[in-house]
Amino acid sequence: MNATYETFALRYATLSSWPRSKAFHCFEVYGDPDTLIDLDYYFWLVRNDEHTVLVDCGYDKERGRARSRHQETSPIELLARMGVKPEDVDHVVLTHMHYDHIGNIALFPNATFSIARAELEYWTGPYADRPTISWPVESEEIRLVQQLATEGRLHLVEDSHELFPGLRLTRLPGHTPGQLITEVTTRAGQIVLASDALHYYEEADLDRPFGTCHDLVDVYRSYDILREMAARPHTVVVPGHDPAVMRRFTVVDDDCVDLAQPTYSQG
Ligand SMILES: [Zn+2]
Repeated sequence: MNATYETFALRYATLSSWPRSKAFHCFEVYGDPDTLIDLDYYFWLVRNDEHTVLVDCGYDKERGRARSRHQETSPIELLARMGVKPEDVDHVVLTHMHYDHIGNIALFPNATFSIARAELEYWTGPYADRPTISWPVESEEIRLVQQLATEGRLHLVEDSHELFPGLRLTRLPGHTPGQLITEVTTRAGQIVLASDALHYYEEADLDRPFGTCHDLVDVYRSYDILREMAARPHTVVVPGHDPAVMRRFTVVDDDCVDLAQPTYSQG
C-alpha cells in the first residue's frame, strides 16, 4: 500500500488589488495604511498510484461571473495539464461550502465526497438563509451536496478522520463551523492544506483574522493550531488564497505548483 502522495496547488483565478480593509476583520484597529492585496483562488490535487483526490474544486464559471469573479482557467483544464481527467477523480474533499470551493462538484461522476457534518448542518439549518450569512454560498450547490448524500456518495466527518492512509481530514472551525484542513503525507514530509482556515500567510504571522468569519475565537484558536503544526519538523502549512504560494513552491506548469518542493530552505 502506498501511503505517500504527490500534492499540487492549482490556481484557477485571481482577484486583483482589493483593499486590506476588506480582506481583514476590523483592519482599522491595527492603525496600518490601507494597502492593496491580491486574492488567488486555488484547489488542490493529491494523488498516488491508488487515489486521485481533489481538495475542493473551485467556483462555477457562470456563478462566479455573476459575482464579478473572472475565471482565468477552468479547474478541468488545470487538471488536464496534470494528466487528470474528471472521471479519474475518486474522491473530493469539500473543505467548506462557500461558492469558491464547491462550484464544480457535478463534474466528477466517479467521485465520493467528504464534508464536515457541522458544515452541512449549518448550511441546511434554520439560519442559513439570512442574507448576512448566506451571501458566500449558492443554494443550488447546497442542494447538490444534499443530493450526494441521498445518493450515498457523501461521507460526513465529525472532528478528525483518516480518509486514506497518509491523508487526514480535521475540522478547524472559525471561518465556517465545519471548515476542514487536509494533512497529506508526502515523500518530503507533511503538507497541511489549510484551505480557508488560513487564507493568507500574514493571518498566522501577524495574528490577524480574515474578514469573513463565523466565530472569531475559533479563528484565533485555529491559527494557534496551524502555527503549532508549521513548527513541527518537515511540515509545511499552505494557505488557501495567498498569491505567495505560487512563489514559495516549484512551478510544474502554468498556475500549477508542487507543494512537496518548496523554493525556500526549510528550518
Ligand atoms: Zn475561499
